[in-house]
Amino acid sequence: MTASADYQRVVLKLSGEALRGDAGYGIDPKVIESIAGQVKEIVELDVEVAVIVGAGNIWRGKVGSEMGMDRATADYMGMLGTCMNALALQDALETIDVETRVQTSIEMRQVAEPYIRRKAIRHLEKKRVVIFAAGTGNPYFSTDTTAALRAAEIEAEVILMAKNNVDGVYNADPSLDDTAKKYTRLSYMDVLSEDLQVMDSTASSLCMDNDIPLIVFSIIEQGNIKRVIQGEQIGTTIRGKHKNV
Ligand code: UDP
Repeated sequence: MTASADYQRVVLKLSGEALRGDAGYGIDPKVIESIAGQVKEIVELDVEVAVIVGAGNIWRGKVGSEMGMDRATADYMGMLGTCMNALALQDALETIDVETRVQTSIEMRQVAEPYIRRKAIRHLEKKRVVIFAAGTGNPYFSTDTTAALRAAEIEAEVILMAKNNVDGVYNADPSLDDTAKKYTRLSYMDVLSEDLQVMDSTASSLCMDNDIPLIVFSIIEQGNIKRVIQGEQIGTTIRGKHKNV
């Protein structure tokens, strides 16, 4: 660990929406360029970075199933969407000379490596950014759950949940309610019992049971990933079992 980084190995969760920017759909090249730049800043602090990408900017299984599709098929489409986002991020990172590997939970060897835990750890030790794509490889799960699962597997110290529409966890939706209050600290039990919209309950439980802290923050402000890594208190930190409120 370097003197200036609080963590040695982190999981960065990027929702599909974070890659969409202001566009209604798909990937905004400027946004992805900005995120890649922020990731490079922490790689330069010698932090080992694994990234989990979502696909809400392309497709969500739930939407497909509400339109009458078979849920599992719709979920596989969502997992394939995460692979598109992963390749776009890999491209943006390699353009600025950050060595990157994509590993997928569904095999597509012509496109990327399959997920192999020990190999992923080896890449991280060599300071390569590893992007985990295709979620857990299973329908009915989310990429938040993937972040919790992979963080436990690779023994990451923290999950950094980067948001583009909110800068932490609030007691009400801040875009609808002016009096909404931002939490600085919460426990996973608070999140579960208050039904706070941080991540789905499967992901929260996995983080709680495996003692993995989570920091929710905004990536809109340039340099925020580095600020979090250096221990600056921005956003909301969630950890532990016991209720804080
Ligand atoms: N998905 C899945 N299994 C997983 C991860 C993701 O089936 O392990 C599918 C699911 O349909 C989900 C979509 O992929 O709606 C995109 O993931 P998510 O909604 O987590 O993306 P985000 O909200 O982070 O953009």
